[in-house]
Amino acid sequence: MLQSEGLNAVPESSFSQRRARLLGLLAHAKADALVFSHLPNIRYLTGFTGSNALLLASATGAVLYTDPRYEFQAAEEVDCKVTVARGDLWEVVIHGSRLRRVKVLGVEAEKMPHSSWQKVRTSLGGGVRLKDCSGMVEELRIVKSDKEIDIIRRSVALNSRAYEKTLRKIAPGMTEIEVVAELEYAMRRLGADGPAFETIVAVGARTALPHARPGHNRLKNNQLLLVDMGATLEGYASDMTRVVHLGRPGARAKVLYEAVLEAQLAAVQEVRPGIRCAEVDRAARNVLRRGKLDRYFTHSTGHGLGLEIHEAPRVGARVETVLEAGMVITIEPGVYIEDFGGVRIEDTVLVTEKGVEVLTPTTKEFLVLAT
Ligand code: ZN
Ligand code: ZN
Repeated sequence: MLQSEGLNAVPESSFSQRRARLLGLLAHAKADALVFSHLPNIRYLTGFTGSNALLLASATGAVLYTDPRYEFQAAEEVDCKVTVARGDLWEVVIHGSRLRRVKVLGVEAEKMPHSSWQKVRTSLGGGVRLKDCSGMVEELRIVKSDKEIDIIRRSVALNSRAYEKTLRKIAPGMTEIEVVAELEYAMRRLGADGPAFETIVAVGARTALPHARPGHNRLKNNQLLLVDMGATLEGYASDMTRVVHLGRPGARAKVLYEAVLEAQLAAVQEVRPGIRCAEVDRAARNVLRRGKLDRYFTHSTGHGLGLEIHEAPRVGARVETVLEAGMVITIEPGVYIEDFGGVRIEDTVLVTEKGVEVLTPTTKEFLVLAT
């Protein structure tokens, strides 16, 4: 197995090892202690999967605060100290930080409602400074460990199987919502925790809405059908978009499909360690520009995913983040033409030492569903 060198060492995957890496950053941030409130970050650092918790971390150790509903769950999942408290967890954490004689307290301001920030500042009183330490754990999460990659790989495979199983059942007369129900049913039957986001199914001209809300529109012959779906498995997301045609596609649909596929393949080919996200985005945009379709490509080329469906890095036109082995991103260019329809093709890919591995196994051929 290949081992990466120097700074980009393979990230540790046990929770205590992750917290140990965090303490290095704590010194860098010049804070005495950090309070984490963003649940995916808490899960990453402790394993806790409940919906109410705060994590206080300092050089003297980490304490997870949660309420009595999660007492047993926390004992089972978490390998650091747990304090079960009633009422406002922030009050309890502030008390804890006072006991530790904290002078500078780091918080995740970007993920906190403004009202919480105000309240925390007031209860802390003078003598303690609040510091915004947003993004620290997100930075650790950006490169996945082998164990995380294994889970994402299985999440992607499960998602594709759910799609492929459902494709056989799709027929004119079904509504978009019925297709969503079938996809999510298949996903759960295959062992998913659930969908990673609201499944998108759009038919006909509605495929031109990049985030179409599925409705009661019925599938008809001679239409584009777009499915954008992702599963969550053991907390980790997958993400895929495919477009098929009900009945034989016309010339225009074929041209759009070919152009988007070419753009998607070009962007995938750019992915490797050392390349900037902006360059990957540009590869897709350049292909579409040749067909004068770039103005219909109205979003960025992709995004990182893991414990959240959208996480760093964003693969966009002005993103300078340099890809590293172990990052997992989507590549999903699309074109959207009002009153006609849209095509988006999305895979989940892994940045490897040598370049890229496309994790999504589903075919990108322009499938025709016989009607
Ligand atoms: Zn998607
Ligand atoms: Zn996506």
